[in-house]
Amino acid sequence: MSLSKEFTEKISAIVGERGVISDAADMAPYLHEERGLATSVADLVVRPANVAEVSAVVQACAENKTPIVPVGGATGLVGGTLATGGVVLATDRLNKIIEVDPLNNTMTVETGCILAELQNAAADQDCLFPLSLGAEGSCRIGGNLSTNAGGVGVLRYGNTRDLVLGLEVVLPSGEIWDGLSALRKDNTGYDLKQLFIGAEGTLGIITKAVLKLFPAPKSSITVMAALPELEATLALFDQTRQLCGDRLTAFEMISRIGMELGAAHVPGVIDPFDAVHPYYALIELTSPRENDNLRGEIEQVLEKALESGVVADAVFAESDAQRQELWKIREEIPAAQTREGASIKHDVSVPVSQSVNFIIEASKRVSQALPGIRPCPFGHIGDGNIHYNLTQPADMAAEEFMARYAEFNRIVHDLVVDMNGSISAEHGIGSFKRDELAHYASPTKISLMKTIKQALDPDNIMNPGKII
Ligand SMILES: Cc1cc2nc3c(=O)[nH]c(=O)nc-3n(C[C@H](O)[C@H](O)[C@H](O)COP(=O)(O)OP(=O)(O)OC[C@H]3O[C@@H](n4cnc5c(N)ncnc54)[C@H](O)[C@@H]3O)c2cc1C
Repeated sequence: MSLSKEFTEKISAIVGERGVISDAADMAPYLHEERGLATSVADLVVRPANVAEVSAVVQACAENKTPIVPVGGATGLVGGTLATGGVVLATDRLNKIIEVDPLNNTMTVETGCILAELQNAAADQDCLFPLSLGAEGSCRIGGNLSTNAGGVGVLRYGNTRDLVLGLEVVLPSGEIWDGLSALRKDNTGYDLKQLFIGAEGTLGIITKAVLKLFPAPKSSITVMAALPELEATLALFDQTRQLCGDRLTAFEMISRIGMELGAAHVPGVIDPFDAVHPYYALIELTSPRENDNLRGEIEQVLEKALESGVVADAVFAESDAQRQELWKIREEIPAAQTREGASIKHDVSVPVSQSVNFIIEASKRVSQALPGIRPCPFGHIGDGNIHYNLTQPADMAAEEFMARYAEFNRIVHDLVVDMNGSISAEHGIGSFKRDELAHYASPTKISLMKTIKQALDPDNIMNPGKII
Protein backbone atom coordinates (compact mmCIF):
# COMPACT_ATOMS: atom_id res chain seq x y z
CA MET A 1 0.00 0.00 0.00
CA SER A 2 1.26 3.47 -0.64
CA LEU A 3 -0.17 6.55 1.04
CA SER A 4 -1.28 9.67 -0.79
CA LYS A 5 0.74 12.87 -0.45
CA GLU A 6 -2.33 14.56 0.95
CA PHE A 7 -2.72 11.93 3.71
CA THR A 8 0.98 12.07 4.60
CA GLU A 9 0.82 15.85 4.85
CA LYS A 10 -2.22 15.60 7.09
CA ILE A 11 -0.35 13.26 9.46
CA SER A 12 2.72 15.53 9.42
CA ALA A 13 0.54 18.50 10.30
CA ILE A 14 -0.75 16.62 13.36
CA VAL A 15 2.53 15.35 14.79
CA GLY A 16 5.06 17.79 13.34
CA GLU A 17 8.31 16.95 11.56
CA ARG A 18 9.83 15.06 14.51
CA GLY A 19 6.81 12.84 14.63
CA VAL A 20 7.01 11.33 11.15
CA ILE A 21 9.61 9.00 9.65
CA SER A 22 9.51 7.82 6.04
CA ASP A 23 13.18 7.12 5.39
CA ALA A 24 13.76 3.33 5.25
CA ALA A 25 16.90 3.33 7.42
CA ASP A 26 15.28 5.50 10.09
CA MET A 27 12.14 3.36 10.10
CA ALA A 28 14.16 0.13 10.61
CA PRO A 29 14.27 0.10 14.45
CA TYR A 30 10.48 0.33 14.55
CA LEU A 31 10.14 -2.57 12.10
CA HIS A 32 12.48 -4.83 14.08
CA GLU A 33 11.35 -8.44 14.59
CA GLU A 34 13.05 -9.84 17.67
CA ARG A 35 13.87 -13.30 16.31
CA GLY A 36 14.39 -12.27 12.68
CA LEU A 37 11.61 -14.62 11.62
CA ALA A 38 9.69 -12.17 9.41
CA THR A 39 9.88 -8.79 7.74
CA SER A 40 7.81 -5.74 8.61
CA VAL A 41 7.05 -3.03 6.04
CA ALA A 42 5.52 0.41 6.64
CA ASP A 43 4.84 3.49 4.55
CA LEU A 44 5.20 5.77 7.54
CA VAL A 45 6.30 5.52 11.14
CA VAL A 46 4.32 8.05 13.17
CA ARG A 47 5.47 9.11 16.65
CA PRO A 48 2.76 11.11 18.40
CA ALA A 49 3.77 12.98 21.56
CA ASN A 50 0.45 13.04 23.44
CA VAL A 51 -3.02 11.52 23.47
CA ALA A 52 -4.54 14.32 21.38
CA GLU A 53 -2.04 13.58 18.63
CA VAL A 54 -2.67 9.82 18.87
CA SER A 55 -6.39 10.48 18.59
CA ALA A 56 -6.03 12.78 15.55
CA VAL A 57 -3.68 10.33 13.79
CA VAL A 58 -6.04 7.40 14.40
CA GLN A 59 -9.02 9.46 13.22
CA ALA A 60 -7.17 10.37 10.02
CA CYS A 61 -6.28 6.70 9.47
CA ALA A 62 -9.88 5.66 10.14
CA GLU A 63 -11.19 8.14 7.56
CA ASN A 64 -8.60 6.92 5.04
CA LYS A 65 -9.04 3.24 6.05
CA THR A 66 -5.28 3.05 6.58
CA PRO A 67 -4.06 0.17 8.74
CA ILE A 68 -2.28 1.09 11.98
CA VAL A 69 0.20 -1.15 13.76
CA PRO A 70 1.14 0.00 17.28
CA VAL A 71 4.73 -0.60 18.36
CA GLY A 72 6.32 -0.19 21.78
CA GLY A 73 9.78 -1.65 22.33
CA ALA A 74 9.40 -4.25 19.52
CA THR A 75 10.59 -7.03 21.85
CA GLY A 76 7.42 -9.10 21.42
CA LEU A 77 8.03 -12.70 20.37
CA VAL A 78 4.92 -13.50 18.30
CA GLY A 79 5.09 -11.04 15.39
CA GLY A 80 2.56 -8.66 16.97
CA THR A 81 4.17 -5.54 15.49
CA LEU A 82 4.60 -6.81 11.94
CA ALA A 83 3.15 -4.43 9.35
CA THR A 84 2.43 -4.94 5.67
CA GLY A 85 2.29 -1.25 4.79
CA GLY A 86 0.30 1.64 6.21
CA VAL A 87 1.16 3.40 9.45
CA VAL A 88 3.30 2.03 12.28
CA LEU A 89 2.38 4.06 15.34
CA ALA A 90 5.34 4.20 17.73
CA THR A 91 4.74 5.11 21.36
CA ASP A 92 8.31 6.13 22.20
CA ARG A 93 7.43 9.83 22.61
CA LEU A 94 4.60 9.00 25.03
CA ASN A 95 7.19 8.68 27.73
CA LYS A 96 6.11 10.72 30.75
CA ILE A 97 5.70 9.41 34.26
CA ILE A 98 2.76 11.57 35.25
CA GLU A 99 2.53 10.79 38.96
CA VAL A 100 3.81 8.39 41.61
CA ASP A 101 1.40 8.29 44.56
CA PRO A 102 2.98 6.21 47.35
CA LEU A 103 -0.05 6.56 49.64
CA ASN A 104 -2.47 5.28 47.00
CA ASN A 105 0.26 2.81 45.99
CA THR A 106 -0.16 3.77 42.32
CA MET A 107 1.76 5.23 39.45
CA THR A 108 0.16 7.02 36.48
CA VAL A 109 2.22 6.79 33.32
CA GLU A 110 2.20 7.24 29.58
CA THR A 111 2.51 3.92 27.83
CA GLY A 112 5.72 4.60 25.91
CA CYS A 113 7.72 4.49 29.17
CA ILE A 114 10.36 1.77 29.28
CA LEU A 115 9.59 -0.86 31.91
CA ALA A 116 12.94 -0.49 33.73
CA GLU A 117 12.37 3.26 34.05
CA LEU A 118 9.06 2.61 35.79
CA GLN A 119 10.71 0.13 38.16
CA ASN A 120 13.33 2.80 39.00
CA ALA A 121 10.76 5.56 39.46
CA ALA A 122 8.83 3.34 41.89
CA ALA A 123 12.04 2.45 43.77
CA ASP A 124 12.87 6.18 44.12
CA GLN A 125 9.66 6.48 46.17
CA ASP A 126 10.51 3.37 48.20
CA CYS A 127 7.91 1.35 46.29
CA LEU A 128 7.99 -1.65 44.00
CA PHE A 129 6.51 -2.03 40.53
CA PRO A 130 6.90 -5.79 40.35
CA LEU A 131 6.64 -6.53 36.63
CA SER A 132 10.05 -7.93 35.71
CA LEU A 133 11.22 -9.70 32.56
CA GLY A 134 14.33 -10.21 30.47
CA ALA A 135 13.49 -7.42 28.01
CA GLU A 136 12.75 -4.83 30.73
CA GLY A 137 15.50 -2.48 29.52
CA SER A 138 13.81 -2.01 26.15
CA CYS A 139 10.17 -3.12 26.30
CA ARG A 140 7.57 -0.40 26.97
CA ILE A 141 4.67 -0.61 29.37
CA GLY A 142 2.13 -0.26 26.52
CA GLY A 143 3.60 -3.43 25.01
CA ASN A 144 3.53 -5.15 28.41
CA LEU A 145 -0.12 -4.20 28.84
CA SER A 146 -1.06 -5.21 25.32
CA THR A 147 0.54 -8.65 25.68
CA ASN A 148 -0.46 -9.06 29.34
CA ALA A 149 3.21 -9.83 29.98
CA GLY A 150 4.17 -12.34 32.66
CA GLY A 151 7.79 -12.59 33.75
CA VAL A 152 9.48 -13.73 36.92
CA GLY A 153 7.26 -12.07 39.54
CA VAL A 154 3.91 -13.58 38.51
CA LEU A 155 3.99 -16.13 41.31
CA ARG A 156 3.80 -13.38 43.94
CA TYR A 157 2.23 -10.40 42.13
CA GLY A 158 0.30 -11.79 39.15
CA ASN A 159 0.44 -10.97 35.43
CA THR A 160 0.38 -7.41 34.06
CA ARG A 161 -3.42 -7.71 34.04
CA ASP A 162 -3.33 -7.90 37.84
CA LEU A 163 -1.18 -4.78 38.13
CA VAL A 164 -3.52 -2.28 36.48
CA LEU A 165 -6.25 -0.07 37.96
CA GLY A 166 -7.08 2.15 35.00
CA LEU A 167 -6.35 2.87 31.34
CA GLU A 168 -6.76 5.59 28.77
CA VAL A 169 -7.30 4.20 25.27
CA VAL A 170 -7.67 5.70 21.81
CA LEU A 171 -10.31 3.63 20.05
CA PRO A 172 -10.12 2.69 16.34
CA SER A 173 -12.43 5.63 15.53
CA GLY A 174 -10.00 8.06 17.17
CA GLU A 175 -12.33 8.60 20.16
CA ILE A 176 -10.58 8.68 23.54
CA TRP A 177 -11.87 6.40 26.32
CA ASP A 178 -10.84 7.85 29.67
CA GLY A 179 -10.82 4.92 32.05
CA LEU A 180 -7.89 6.25 34.05
CA SER A 181 -9.29 5.25 37.40
CA ALA A 182 -7.01 4.82 40.42
CA LEU A 183 -9.67 2.95 42.39
CA ARG A 184 -9.27 -0.45 43.97
CA LYS A 185 -13.01 -0.92 44.12
CA ASP A 186 -15.22 0.00 41.18
CA ASN A 187 -18.10 -2.25 40.22
CA THR A 188 -19.83 0.02 37.72
CA GLY A 189 -20.50 -2.52 35.01
CA TYR A 190 -18.12 -4.28 32.63
CA ASP A 191 -14.43 -4.03 33.46
CA LEU A 192 -13.54 -2.46 30.11
CA LYS A 193 -9.83 -2.05 30.80
CA GLN A 194 -9.41 -5.83 30.78
CA LEU A 195 -10.66 -5.88 27.18
CA PHE A 196 -7.66 -3.86 26.03
CA ILE A 197 -5.09 -5.65 28.20
CA GLY A 198 -3.78 -8.59 26.17
CA ALA A 199 -5.56 -7.36 23.01
CA GLU A 200 -2.18 -6.86 21.29
CA GLY A 201 -3.23 -3.53 19.81
CA THR A 202 -6.20 -4.96 17.90
CA LEU A 203 -8.83 -2.93 19.76
CA GLY A 204 -7.14 0.44 20.27
CA ILE A 205 -3.98 2.24 21.36
CA ILE A 206 -3.40 2.31 25.11
CA THR A 207 -1.99 5.76 25.88
CA LYS A 208 -1.93 5.95 29.70
CA ALA A 209 -2.21 3.54 32.61
CA VAL A 210 -2.61 3.62 36.38
CA LEU A 211 -0.39 0.86 37.75
CA LYS A 212 -0.36 -0.76 41.18
CA LEU A 213 2.67 -0.39 43.42
CA PHE A 214 3.74 -2.51 46.38
CA PRO A 215 6.03 -2.04 49.38
CA ALA A 216 9.66 -2.18 48.27
CA PRO A 217 11.46 -5.35 49.37
CA LYS A 218 13.97 -4.66 52.15
CA SER A 219 15.26 -8.22 52.54
CA SER A 220 15.82 -10.83 49.88
CA ILE A 221 17.58 -14.12 49.36
CA THR A 222 18.36 -15.97 46.15
CA VAL A 223 19.26 -19.65 46.07
CA MET A 224 19.93 -22.18 43.36
CA ALA A 225 19.09 -25.76 44.30
CA ALA A 226 20.41 -28.75 42.37
CA LEU A 227 17.78 -31.46 41.96
CA PRO A 228 18.25 -35.19 41.43
CA GLU A 229 15.22 -35.57 39.14
CA LEU A 230 12.49 -33.57 37.42
CA GLU A 231 9.79 -34.63 39.91
CA ALA A 232 11.77 -32.89 42.65
CA THR A 233 11.02 -29.45 41.17
CA LEU A 234 7.34 -29.63 42.11
CA ALA A 235 8.05 -31.23 45.49
CA LEU A 236 10.53 -28.44 46.34
CA PHE A 237 8.17 -25.78 45.02
CA ASP A 238 5.38 -27.06 47.21
CA GLN A 239 7.58 -27.31 50.31
CA THR A 240 8.95 -23.79 49.78
CA ARG A 241 5.50 -22.29 49.28
CA GLN A 242 4.12 -24.08 52.34
CA LEU A 243 6.83 -22.70 54.58
CA CYS A 244 7.53 -19.30 53.04
CA GLY A 245 4.03 -18.28 51.88
CA ASP A 246 4.01 -15.14 49.79
CA ARG A 247 7.62 -14.34 50.59
CA LEU A 248 8.27 -16.80 47.77
CA THR A 249 8.62 -14.37 44.86
CA ALA A 250 10.18 -16.47 42.08
CA PHE A 251 10.62 -20.17 41.43
CA GLU A 252 12.25 -20.93 38.10
CA MET A 253 13.26 -24.30 36.67
CA ILE A 254 16.42 -24.92 34.63
CA SER A 255 17.34 -28.22 33.00
CA ARG A 256 20.87 -29.58 32.62
CA ILE A 257 20.95 -28.83 28.91
CA GLY A 258 20.02 -25.19 29.64
CA MET A 259 22.93 -24.97 32.08
CA GLU A 260 25.33 -26.64 29.62
CA LEU A 261 24.35 -24.50 26.64
CA GLY A 262 24.67 -21.33 28.72
CA ALA A 263 28.11 -22.30 30.04
CA ALA A 264 29.23 -23.23 26.52
CA HIS A 265 27.99 -20.16 24.67
CA VAL A 266 27.46 -17.21 27.02
CA PRO A 267 30.40 -15.52 28.74
CA GLY A 268 29.69 -15.13 32.45
CA VAL A 269 27.37 -18.14 32.69
CA ILE A 270 29.09 -20.48 35.12
CA ASP A 271 27.72 -23.72 36.56
CA PRO A 272 27.92 -23.02 40.33
CA PHE A 273 28.02 -26.71 41.28
CA ASP A 274 30.97 -29.13 41.22
CA ALA A 275 28.84 -32.12 40.26
CA VAL A 276 26.49 -32.57 37.31
CA HIS A 277 22.76 -32.44 38.18
CA PRO A 278 19.79 -33.04 35.85
CA TYR A 279 17.65 -30.10 37.06
CA TYR A 280 17.95 -26.89 39.06
CA ALA A 281 15.53 -24.54 40.78
CA LEU A 282 16.23 -20.82 41.11
CA ILE A 283 14.37 -19.56 44.14
CA GLU A 284 13.95 -16.01 45.40
CA LEU A 285 12.31 -14.88 48.62
CA THR A 286 11.66 -11.22 49.41
CA SER A 287 10.14 -9.33 52.29
CA PRO A 288 9.31 -5.66 52.97
CA ARG A 289 10.86 -6.00 56.47
CA GLU A 290 14.48 -5.02 57.10
CA ASN A 291 16.69 -7.94 58.16
CA ASP A 292 13.90 -10.50 57.83
CA ASN A 293 15.40 -13.93 58.41
CA LEU A 294 14.71 -15.23 54.91
CA ARG A 295 17.94 -17.18 54.95
CA GLY A 296 16.78 -19.07 58.03
CA GLU A 297 13.49 -19.87 56.33
CA ILE A 298 14.93 -21.19 53.10
CA GLU A 299 17.62 -23.10 55.00
CA GLN A 300 14.86 -24.85 56.90
CA VAL A 301 13.21 -25.86 53.61
CA LEU A 302 16.49 -26.97 52.07
CA GLU A 303 17.62 -28.98 55.12
CA LYS A 304 14.44 -31.05 55.01
CA ALA A 305 14.68 -31.38 51.25
CA LEU A 306 18.30 -32.54 51.48
CA GLU A 307 17.34 -35.12 54.09
CA SER A 308 14.49 -36.48 52.00
CA GLY A 309 16.51 -36.50 48.78
CA VAL A 310 14.44 -33.81 47.05
CA VAL A 311 17.52 -31.58 46.82
CA ALA A 312 21.08 -32.73 46.08
CA ASP A 313 22.95 -29.47 46.72
CA ALA A 314 22.34 -25.74 46.97
CA VAL A 315 24.22 -22.45 46.59
CA PHE A 316 23.27 -19.09 48.07
CA ALA A 317 23.88 -15.72 46.45
CA GLU A 318 26.04 -13.92 49.01
CA SER A 319 26.08 -10.60 47.14
CA ASP A 320 24.13 -8.77 44.48
CA ALA A 321 26.81 -9.75 41.95
CA GLN A 322 26.27 -13.43 42.81
CA ARG A 323 22.52 -12.95 42.60
CA GLN A 324 22.95 -11.58 39.09
CA GLU A 325 25.20 -14.50 38.16
CA LEU A 326 22.52 -16.98 39.21
CA TRP A 327 19.80 -15.09 37.33
CA LYS A 328 22.04 -14.87 34.28
CA ILE A 329 22.02 -18.67 34.03
CA ARG A 330 18.23 -18.54 33.72
CA GLU A 331 17.89 -15.43 31.56
CA GLU A 332 20.50 -16.41 28.99
CA ILE A 333 19.06 -19.81 28.08
CA PRO A 334 17.26 -18.52 24.93
CA ALA A 335 20.42 -16.73 23.72
CA ALA A 336 22.51 -19.84 24.42
CA GLN A 337 20.05 -21.98 22.47
CA THR A 338 20.24 -19.64 19.50
CA ARG A 339 24.04 -19.93 19.48
CA GLU A 340 23.81 -23.72 19.61
CA GLY A 341 21.71 -23.89 16.44
CA ALA A 342 18.09 -23.84 15.36
CA SER A 343 15.35 -24.13 17.96
CA ILE A 344 11.59 -24.50 17.91
CA LYS A 345 10.03 -22.66 20.84
CA HIS A 346 6.83 -23.19 22.77
CA ASP A 347 5.59 -20.79 25.46
CA VAL A 348 2.95 -22.98 27.08
CA SER A 349 1.21 -23.46 30.39
CA VAL A 350 -0.51 -26.35 32.11
CA PRO A 351 -1.94 -26.62 35.63
CA VAL A 352 1.07 -26.46 37.98
CA SER A 353 0.35 -29.98 39.20
CA GLN A 354 0.63 -31.26 35.60
CA SER A 355 3.85 -29.49 34.67
CA VAL A 356 6.20 -32.40 35.37
CA ASN A 357 3.93 -34.88 33.58
CA PHE A 358 3.78 -32.50 30.66
CA ILE A 359 7.57 -32.26 30.33
CA ILE A 360 8.02 -36.04 30.59
CA GLU A 361 5.32 -36.86 28.04
CA ALA A 362 6.23 -34.05 25.60
CA SER A 363 9.87 -35.13 25.65
CA LYS A 364 8.84 -38.73 24.94
CA ARG A 365 6.71 -37.68 21.98
CA VAL A 366 9.18 -35.30 20.35
CA SER A 367 12.01 -37.82 20.77
CA GLN A 368 9.91 -40.49 19.10
CA ALA A 369 9.29 -38.12 16.19
CA LEU A 370 12.96 -37.15 15.89
CA PRO A 371 15.60 -39.15 17.75
CA GLY A 372 18.42 -36.86 18.86
CA ILE A 373 16.19 -33.80 19.33
CA ARG A 374 17.20 -31.91 22.47
CA PRO A 375 14.29 -30.66 24.61
CA CYS A 376 15.34 -27.70 26.73
CA PRO A 377 12.44 -26.99 29.10
CA PHE A 378 12.87 -24.08 31.48
CA GLY A 379 10.94 -21.28 33.04
CA HIS A 380 8.29 -20.18 35.46
CA ILE A 381 7.32 -23.64 36.69
CA GLY A 382 5.75 -22.15 39.81
CA ASP A 383 3.09 -20.68 37.47
CA GLY A 384 2.84 -23.82 35.32
CA ASN A 385 4.46 -21.80 32.50
CA ILE A 386 7.11 -23.81 30.70
CA HIS A 387 9.22 -22.55 27.85
CA TYR A 388 9.34 -25.90 26.11
CA ASN A 389 12.07 -25.19 23.59
CA LEU A 390 13.48 -27.80 21.28
CA THR A 391 17.08 -27.61 20.11
CA GLN A 392 17.97 -29.33 16.87
CA PRO A 393 19.88 -32.63 16.90
CA ALA A 394 23.61 -31.88 16.82
CA ASP A 395 24.10 -33.62 13.48
CA MET A 396 21.12 -32.16 11.59
CA ALA A 397 21.04 -29.16 9.25
CA ALA A 398 19.26 -26.18 10.77
CA GLU A 399 16.97 -25.71 7.73
CA GLU A 400 15.96 -29.38 7.80
CA PHE A 401 15.02 -29.02 11.47
CA MET A 402 13.12 -25.76 11.01
CA ALA A 403 11.16 -27.32 8.12
CA ARG A 404 9.49 -29.45 10.82
CA TYR A 405 8.35 -26.41 12.87
CA ALA A 406 4.63 -27.02 12.31
CA GLU A 407 4.93 -30.73 13.05
CA PHE A 408 6.54 -30.10 16.46
CA ASN A 409 4.09 -27.31 17.25
CA ARG A 410 1.30 -29.80 16.67
CA ILE A 411 2.87 -32.50 18.85
CA VAL A 412 3.50 -30.11 21.75
CA HIS A 413 0.30 -28.09 21.50
CA ASP A 414 -1.91 -31.20 21.17
CA LEU A 415 -0.51 -32.42 24.48
CA VAL A 416 -0.90 -29.00 26.10
CA VAL A 417 -4.54 -28.78 25.08
CA ASP A 418 -5.18 -32.38 26.21
CA MET A 419 -3.86 -31.30 29.62
CA ASN A 420 -6.18 -28.27 29.73
CA GLY A 421 -3.29 -25.94 29.16
CA SER A 422 -2.65 -22.88 27.01
CA ILE A 423 -0.67 -22.68 23.76
CA SER A 424 0.46 -19.17 24.72
CA ALA A 425 1.17 -18.63 28.38
CA GLU A 426 2.68 -15.16 28.23
CA HIS A 427 3.86 -14.02 24.79
CA GLY A 428 0.45 -13.67 23.14
CA ILE A 429 -0.79 -14.71 19.70
CA GLY A 430 0.32 -11.94 17.31
CA SER A 431 0.64 -13.26 13.79
CA PHE A 432 2.86 -16.25 14.46
CA LYS A 433 0.34 -18.14 16.59
CA ARG A 434 -2.84 -16.99 14.87
CA ASP A 435 -3.37 -20.24 12.98
CA GLU A 436 -2.66 -22.26 16.10
CA LEU A 437 -5.30 -20.29 18.02
CA ALA A 438 -7.78 -20.85 15.20
CA HIS A 439 -6.97 -24.57 15.34
CA TYR A 440 -7.44 -25.00 19.09
CA ALA A 441 -9.88 -22.32 20.33
CA SER A 442 -13.55 -23.20 20.53
CA PRO A 443 -15.77 -21.73 17.79
CA THR A 444 -17.63 -19.87 20.54
CA LYS A 445 -14.46 -18.17 21.76
CA ILE A 446 -13.41 -17.16 18.22
CA SER A 447 -16.91 -15.91 17.46
CA LEU A 448 -17.03 -13.82 20.68
CA MET A 449 -13.65 -12.29 19.89
CA LYS A 450 -14.74 -11.47 16.33
CA THR A 451 -17.93 -9.85 17.66
CA ILE A 452 -15.90 -7.59 19.95
CA LYS A 453 -13.41 -6.74 17.19
CA GLN A 454 -16.21 -5.96 14.73
CA ALA A 455 -18.01 -3.75 17.25
CA LEU A 456 -14.93 -1.65 18.03
CA ASP A 457 -13.10 -1.78 14.72
CA PRO A 458 -15.58 -2.44 11.90
CA ASP A 459 -13.07 -1.51 9.17
CA ASN A 460 -10.33 -3.68 10.69
CA ILE A 461 -7.70 -0.93 10.67
CA MET A 462 -6.24 -1.59 14.14
CA ASN A 463 -3.34 -4.06 13.94
CA PRO A 464 -5.02 -6.17 11.25
CA GLY A 465 -4.13 -9.84 10.93
CA LYS A 466 -3.18 -10.26 14.58
CA ILE A 467 -4.83 -12.75 16.99
CA ILE A 468 -7.87 -13.48 14.75
C1 LIG B 1 14.89 -11.32 26.18
C2 LIG B 1 13.40 -11.33 26.24
C3 LIG B 1 12.76 -11.81 27.37
C4 LIG B 1 11.37 -11.81 27.45
N1 LIG B 1 10.78 -12.30 28.57
C5 LIG B 1 9.45 -12.27 28.68
C6 LIG B 1 8.81 -12.76 29.86
O1 LIG B 1 9.45 -13.24 30.78
N2 LIG B 1 7.47 -12.67 29.93
C7 LIG B 1 6.72 -12.15 28.90
O2 LIG B 1 5.50 -12.08 29.03
N3 LIG B 1 7.29 -11.71 27.76
C8 LIG B 1 8.63 -11.75 27.62
N4 LIG B 1 9.21 -11.31 26.48
C9 LIG B 1 8.38 -10.82 25.37
C10 LIG B 1 8.22 -9.29 25.34
O3 LIG B 1 9.27 -8.64 25.98
C11 LIG B 1 6.93 -8.88 25.99
O4 LIG B 1 5.87 -9.38 25.21
C12 LIG B 1 6.74 -7.37 26.16
O5 LIG B 1 5.60 -7.20 26.96
C13 LIG B 1 6.56 -6.63 24.86
O6 LIG B 1 6.70 -5.23 25.08
P1 LIG B 1 7.13 -4.27 23.89
O7 LIG B 1 7.06 -2.86 24.34
O8 LIG B 1 8.40 -4.69 23.30
O9 LIG B 1 5.93 -4.54 22.87
P2 LIG B 1 5.96 -4.65 21.31
O10 LIG B 1 6.73 -5.84 20.87
O11 LIG B 1 6.33 -3.35 20.72
O12 LIG B 1 4.41 -4.91 21.04
C14 LIG B 1 3.76 -6.08 21.50
C15 LIG B 1 2.28 -6.03 21.09
O13 LIG B 1 1.63 -4.97 21.75
C16 LIG B 1 1.08 -4.01 20.83
N5 LIG B 1 1.30 -2.69 21.43
C17 LIG B 1 2.47 -2.15 21.84
N6 LIG B 1 2.24 -0.98 22.46
C18 LIG B 1 0.89 -0.77 22.42
C19 LIG B 1 0.02 0.26 22.92
N7 LIG B 1 0.49 1.31 23.57
N8 LIG B 1 -1.31 0.12 22.71
C20 LIG B 1 -1.81 -0.94 22.05
N9 LIG B 1 -1.04 -1.93 21.57
C21 LIG B 1 0.29 -1.86 21.76
C22 LIG B 1 1.84 -4.27 19.53
O14 LIG B 1 1.07 -3.92 18.39
C23 LIG B 1 2.08 -5.77 19.60
O15 LIG B 1 0.94 -6.47 19.19
C24 LIG B 1 10.60 -11.32 26.36
C25 LIG B 1 11.24 -10.84 25.22
C26 LIG B 1 12.63 -10.84 25.14
C27 LIG B 1 13.28 -10.31 23.91
